[in-house]
Amino acid sequence: MSNVIDGKQFANDLCEKLKLEVAQLLEQQDLQPGIAVVLVGDDPASQVYVRNKVKRCEQLGIKSFEHRLPEDTSEADLLTLIKQLNDQSDVHGILVQLPVPDHIDDKVILAAISPSKDVDGLHIENIGAMAVGNNQMVPCTPLGSMMLLNDRLGDLSGKHAVVIGRSNLVGKPMATLLLQQNCTVTVAHSRTKDIESICRQADILVAAVGRPRFVKADWVKEGAVVIDVGINRIEEDGKSRLVGDVDFDAVSPKVAGITPVPGGVGPMTIACLMYNTVFAAKKQAGLVS
Ligand code: NAP
Repeated sequence: MSNVIDGKQFANDLCEKLKLEVAQLLEQQDLQPGIAVVLVGDDPASQVYVRNKVKRCEQLGIKSFEHRLPEDTSEADLLTLIKQLNDQSDVHGILVQLPVPDHIDDKVILAAISPSKDVDGLHIENIGAMAVGNNQMVPCTPLGSMMLLNDRLGDLSGKHAVVIGRSNLVGKPMATLLLQQNCTVTVAHSRTKDIESICRQADILVAAVGRPRFVKADWVKEGAVVIDVGINRIEEDGKSRLVGDVDFDAVSPKVAGITPVPGGVGPMTIACLMYNTVFAAKKQAGLVS
């Protein structure tokens, strides 16, 4: 088995299963999962993310409702739209593409989304539920990363997991999920001292930093499994390219598993958004508890 963890293939397989499930829900329950995707402004990266999400929905038979709002949309108008979407019965999931423009408080917006439609898993109620081990909507990137880890390693009990990064979006929920699966978890961040030696203790190393090739080969234990969440665009040899937070070429010869960038965690994030949308639809229809 190659030590490269093929997130793209895993995500495609997961989406194939979801596609079958969506077709069954439509046929047997007259239920078509639907997601509203809200984009405020014209940030080019956000536009690409939204386009990719909508494309995946189409492939799977999930209905998507796109709401593209101008940059100067007020917080009040965005809240009005969210309220409408909370009440719209064929919308099972609501995704507000982050970041929103500076004049809008993303915490206020995330709090306004009905927790049962919070397919990004960022509502405080869903985060709290996860913290006490009652997972409802789990944030997509950590969820996808855990799926890859479980597929590669099976039972994670007793493993020392080091997570670099403590964002609400990735680092913190990732640490919570690893703890739920009985790992011994260390969270490192920008104030951590001697991060290299902490990383060297890791059986599982998760990098969610946002710094190109931050993790070097001598930071990583022989035989460890590395999940590289980072997506960094750099200019190299006169070309623009995407690289992760891990120095892939140097690290990969010594590890038992490593996700590439691109083609690792990224495709899993979108696949898990689809997964959460199908789950939300089933839950709202009373098909799962
Ligand atoms: P973020 O909110 O900027 O958080 C970065 C974290 O890294 C912070 O906790 C920060 O520590 C820590 N950090 C920064 N510099 C450090 C250093 N020198 N040493 C140790 N820790 C350091 O970023 P994020 O949203 O978590 O995203 C992280 C990366 O993942 C980005 O590249 C992002 O593009 C990528 N990402 C990918 C996906 C995907 O689908 N693959 C999804 C989401 C994010 P402090 O808290 O102390 O500042």
